[in-house]
Amino acid sequence: MNSLVQHFTEQLPEALALLEKMVSMESPSFDKELTDRFVVFLGSKFQEIGGKVEFTPAEKVGNHLHVKFSLGSADPILLLGHTDTVWPAGEVAKRPFKIENGRATGPGVFDMKAGILLMWMALRVLKDRPVTVLLTSDEEIGSTSSRALIESEASRCRAIFVLEPSLPGGALKTARKGIGRFTVKAIGRAAHAGIDPEKGVNAIEEIARQILKLQTMSDAGRGTTVTVGVVQGGTRSNVVPAEATAEVDVRIASAEEAGRVAKMIQGLSPELSGARLEIRGGINRPPMVRNTETARLFEAARAIAAQLGVDLQEGATGGASDGNFTSALGIPTLDGLGAVGGGAHSIDEWVDLESLPLRAALIAGLIENCFR
Ligand SMILES: [Zn+2]
Repeated sequence: MNSLVQHFTEQLPEALALLEKMVSMESPSFDKELTDRFVVFLGSKFQEIGGKVEFTPAEKVGNHLHVKFSLGSADPILLLGHTDTVWPAGEVAKRPFKIENGRATGPGVFDMKAGILLMWMALRVLKDRPVTVLLTSDEEIGSTSSRALIESEASRCRAIFVLEPSLPGGALKTARKGIGRFTVKAIGRAAHAGIDPEKGVNAIEEIARQILKLQTMSDAGRGTTVTVGVVQGGTRSNVVPAEATAEVDVRIASAEEAGRVAKMIQGLSPELSGARLEIRGGINRPPMVRNTETARLFEAARAIAAQLGVDLQEGATGGASDGNFTSALGIPTLDGLGAVGGGAHSIDEWVDLESLPLRAALIAGLIENCFR
């Protein structure tokens, strides 16, 4: 195994040149043209190492990329990730890819271009194992165009390894909260605030009352949070407002909580006479629960890491990924296998370079282990 780390260490300059190219090619979730270009480039890199490349067209976001290696009779492993980043076009000009003090920095380097690099590094030495790579291009905006594709691809696989960024220090993610997004709109009646305010129904007052109810739905003991993050309403100060909305973020750790909170939000009723509520949205990603299959995969990863001299840890996060979908289907899923670093979605985002060969060896070892 240590010879594998040595191999990846020798390859590191070449791998870092590829990482630089990947970060320099921007891929914002909302920029189809740029992301498509990046996806085609990645396809060519995976093809060079023996993968069979296919693209699934997407209308508003970049096309999704699948790469298949040595598919035969055995159920493959799915390496799952995303090509899109949260950064707008032009960010790279402000903060170009840089290597300094053992760290790589630049937009999207940690979440998750270094994770894609790790897939490429591991598969280059494991060409003859049945592996499918699926890189979607709308993960950062809720995966609406790729969810069905993820679920159908995952259902053919024996296990899913998600190469999203690790927790601090390199820990894997064995539990993720699920996410719900709701919009609560209050509809009142507009009226002149000075001449006949009694004819109006104040939608802002109505939404304010609903916000207080929403904020009490959080339950720390059950890991549930309900957060009103955006409020809008009214037109002018001298008009009784006819409309106001609240956008709500929900995080849940179990399917039961998802059901309980969704029902409470959908069951909100207006308090002011003459007001109405329109409630939209729902649970977007189910929670990824640490089940026995996840625990088994983590134990395998821990044993492989120990052989590499790494004490691998696990943890839970409130953030969700496409691993939430595959785990909810009952397919063994291990997440956070991507780069070691920090600062995802922030301008301080960084990747630890020394850990890249170890991480590539861990992923290669995990894939091997599944076919033993
Ligand atoms: Zn990500």
